Amino acid sequence: MATTPSTNMLPPVVRRFLRYVKIDTQSSPDSETVPSTGKQKNLGDVLVRELFEIGFGDASMDEYGYVLATLPGTMNGDERTDSVVVALLAHMDTAPDESGENVKPVVHPPYEGGVISLPGDSSITLDPERQPHLLQHQGERLITSDGTTLLGSDDKAGVAILMQLAEDMLNDSSPRPDVRICFTIDEEIGRGVDHLNLQELGADIAYTLDGSGVDTISFETFNAATATVTVTGRSVHPGYAKGVMVNAVRILADLISSLPPDEAPETTEDRQGYYHPYTISAGDVTSASAQIILRDFSRAGLEERKGLVQSLVVTAEEKNPNARISLEIKDQYKNMRSYIEATDIRAITFAREAAAEMGFELKEEIVRGGTDGARLSEMGLPTPNIFNGGYDYHSRFEWNTVENLERSLEYTKALVRYWGDHMTESST
Ligand SMILES: [Zn+2]
Repeated sequence: MATTPSTNMLPPVVRRFLRYVKIDTQSSPDSETVPSTGKQKNLGDVLVRELFEIGFGDASMDEYGYVLATLPGTMNGDERTDSVVVALLAHMDTAPDESGENVKPVVHPPYEGGVISLPGDSSITLDPERQPHLLQHQGERLITSDGTTLLGSDDKAGVAILMQLAEDMLNDSSPRPDVRICFTIDEEIGRGVDHLNLQELGADIAYTLDGSGVDTISFETFNAATATVTVTGRSVHPGYAKGVMVNAVRILADLISSLPPDEAPETTEDRQGYYHPYTISAGDVTSASAQIILRDFSRAGLEERKGLVQSLVVTAEEKNPNARISLEIKDQYKNMRSYIEATDIRAITFAREAAAEMGFELKEEIVRGGTDGARLSEMGLPTPNIFNGGYDYHSRFEWNTVENLERSLEYTKALVRYWGDHMTESST
């Protein structure tokens, strides 16, 4: 049975984290309001108040719930001429997948391996068979929920780390650029930056603290496109259909089943791309259409996937000369790496070098989905994602450790100082 040590004995970043996870901030995809749930502002209010108490006179929350504060740079005079503004972001909301109400965080004694049952629901276990990363954190103090809710480490770990960084660095005189601390809303429902005012944020480089695990950075996402295939057939009474009917449903089904089955989301991982037929609509004999998502980490790979869909359409037309088949392919977004490289590669190289100075190598993780950072990078603000220590997000199995939170905090501070020491170096 887990025991909760007196919270006074825990590092300040952990005490913050334990406070913030208790505030329910679950977002909702079914809501049209901004933020999608008003309760996200409850955490925003707490953060603004605490920022004021620490000494951030400019801390504010806007009508949408975005919280902003400035950690002023320590450079002056000429040093400032070439200076950049770095933004650090974390999202306040938690995932709709599991309840975030009445979260009761548990700090466990140092982990010795093996299976741990959570106290509020013994069927929820942390098990290295399913969660192999646990074994890399033996000797550390795990933090979980009691098993009845998610923990909310995604992304209150990021929130707690940035709040602690703000407090710790305010009176630190080592060189650093202006740092904008920003807490966002509705990331989990894909609307995290919809209303974020980039002009007001005023940053040249940004990092989200929303990456799982430790010592990780991610700045690669898929290149993405959507193909819409529409088949127009010909209807006639089935009793007299021979040689006349052209069945759009059958033609479309045939085309979809010709997509390579081993290149689907459910059959791929890591760097493998895929075809994903995900909607089929208004199917009847005269008209049927489907949308197929195409994903690939390389540009050339995405073009090949478009080419394959085009060739399937040509084949279907040849087999069904009386049908009309239209194909429309729309690009959705590009691998965020290309945007970062085009804008300021230092967002990545400095992150690596700051880690090397601390004595470790940043591991690059790829993202098989969208992120706020990908959209910000596309909008011209290079935004890699760095680790906040958590694992098994969006579930009741979610966990972080006391040590991981401290490590992410130390690394993020080192990254800010690295920018202070090196930002006058050219980006080319
Ligand atoms: Zn997140």
